Amino acid sequence: MPRPLLATIHTAALANNLAVARRHAPNSKVWAVVKANAYGHGLARAFPGLRATDGFGLLDLEEAVKLRELGWAGPILLLEGFFRPTDIDVIDRYSLTTTVHCDEQLRMLEMARLSKPVNIQLKMNTGMNRLGYTPDKFRAAWERARACPGVGQIVLMTHFSDADSERGIAEQLAAFERGAEGIAGARSLANSAATLWHPQSHFDWVRPGIILYGASPSGVTSAIEGTGLQPAMTLASELIAVQTLVPGQTIGYGSTFQAPAPMRIGVVACGYADGYPRCAPEGTPIIVDGVRTRVVGRVSMDMITVDLTPCPTANVGSRVELWGAQLPIDDVARACGTIGYELMCAVAQRVPVRAE
Ligand code: PLP
Repeated sequence: MPRPLLATIHTAALANNLAVARRHAPNSKVWAVVKANAYGHGLARAFPGLRATDGFGLLDLEEAVKLRELGWAGPILLLEGFFRPTDIDVIDRYSLTTTVHCDEQLRMLEMARLSKPVNIQLKMNTGMNRLGYTPDKFRAAWERARACPGVGQIVLMTHFSDADSERGIAEQLAAFERGAEGIAGARSLANSAATLWHPQSHFDWVRPGIILYGASPSGVTSAIEGTGLQPAMTLASELIAVQTLVPGQTIGYGSTFQAPAPMRIGVVACGYADGYPRCAPEGTPIIVDGVRTRVVGRVSMDMITVDLTPCPTANVGSRVELWGAQLPIDDVARACGTIGYELMCAVAQRVPVRAE
């Protein structure tokens, strides 16, 4: 018998979430961001739900090739560009669009022998300070790219650091407008947060990632209430044992939880080797038999222990939802001091996945 742990990918939710993104940016095309194996959902499993997109954005050449093998003939954008001259052969062969963020990449394109020009997104660094040309150097880079016979269409691009927070995008948008002044061409700026909350940044292409998977760009569940976004992954398991503790008895490694009164504890088949965060503190929400309760005791490699006080009829075989349709991933992430992005990307290979 396999363990009862299962990640279910909701194809209809992915399609719904893409439609939500489109409703927020009705005049823009969409790069559906599917990097990191579609944020842990599995590229092949996420693809059917997202195929109504205009293009896919990802990181690895391998993932780009896999998308072509899945039958996607439309645009694919490499969000960080490429690293070696041999990468350009793959870009050429599979007709990929690439980000260009530095002179070294431009130089490699100038030297490359291509069957056709490569479309690029020229990246401006407007404040994230990771990749891209500063606004002052952007025009020269654009002129150099335009003069390169190996370069086809050029989209102007930047990435926001604070579109989900109070700081917002005003400074970065102003820097972008300064750097791109007088340069014609399509623009691509908005991540999920900007797609939802900053329509002035939508321009020609938006690049949502996290909202396609139904989670909040800010990590706060209430921030996406009313948007119609739906969780695209449910991680569910079962109780594999139930313990009755007397007052003073403890649970698990480190004996971090001590029963204050007689209580029933459920043992769940899911642990940190499955991607559930070991740091989940006492009180992290979890659903047993449809009832919200809490993690108690330390998360171990293969098991979690939960308080069954609010669900007195729960027993071995009871359904447990770690996150998903009944429990927003952001609520779990927040309890653990992280964001939904990290939890979904961390689901381990050993967890069986089913798309529905
Ligand atoms: N665009 C770029 C360049 C990115 O690196 C990412 C992800 O980090 C995204 C868009 C999508 O971001 P989000 O998942 O916050 O929508």
